[in-house]
Amino acid sequence: MPYALSLTHLYPDYLNLYGDTGNLIVLRRRCQWMGIDCTVNALSMGEAAQAGCTDLYFMGGGQDNDQVAVVNDFHQLKYDAIKADTEVGVVFLGVCGGYQLMGNTFLMGNGEETRGLGIINVNTRAPGTDVKQRCIGNLVAELTPATYADMQTLYAPHRDIPKTLVGFENHSGQTYLGDGVEPLATTIAGFGNNAAAEHEGARYKNVFGSYMHGSLLPKNPHFADYLIGLALRRRYPEDFVTLPVLPDTEEWAAHTYAVQRYG
Ligand code: GLN
Repeated sequence: MPYALSLTHLYPDYLNLYGDTGNLIVLRRRCQWMGIDCTVNALSMGEAAQAGCTDLYFMGGGQDNDQVAVVNDFHQLKYDAIKADTEVGVVFLGVCGGYQLMGNTFLMGNGEETRGLGIINVNTRAPGTDVKQRCIGNLVAELTPATYADMQTLYAPHRDIPKTLVGFENHSGQTYLGDGVEPLATTIAGFGNNAAAEHEGARYKNVFGSYMHGSLLPKNPHFADYLIGLALRRRYPEDFVTLPVLPDTEEWAAHTYAVQRYG
């Protein structure tokens, strides 16, 4: 029987900056190429989440007001199910505004504080309304050794994969990691979590936050496969799932170009 995965796109009509929906397109297409039966469902305003129904959540970026628009709905209709799922290892990827929202608090540029979702122990503060203080530009970062080592177990036979992630960031919020949360990667070029931190993104269990738009997964096929692999290994724990190697000629060309130009 072929493997199957169910993916959930949270608030696609509110949180989708800089082509973030491309991340879902990549996941679905790579699953098709690998012979994995993949369905994608949107879950937006007014729709309740149910625990145990999905293998992977994705939430894209948004402007401050888009984040504020969805936060009450999230607390009322989605929080319990998604918190329960992520605590048992369901995969969650949040990009930029979506990443910020997954944290405990988000202090916006206008000085108002929004209670975040508390899915991951991070806090975000915007320095002010001065646009010069935004973190904008290309971002190149090196995966932490633990995540990279785990990623290498995805493929049999062994595949040589880069340690780098590449993307584009544009945010005023500065994110600070709390206890129990590891960075996703060490920053080589660009800012990442905050202007002083020298690290980018966060990981807690299988919950990932990243400041990389661009979108993230088309130029980082190893990270896309890692999310698919984690979701499959959780859903099919009796198998130690490995993934077929896709050619990815254009994907690696785009990745390598970004590393060489900005890294
Ligand atoms: N509103 C957030 C900020 O500027 C997130 C922006 C984004 O998702 N690119 O910090």
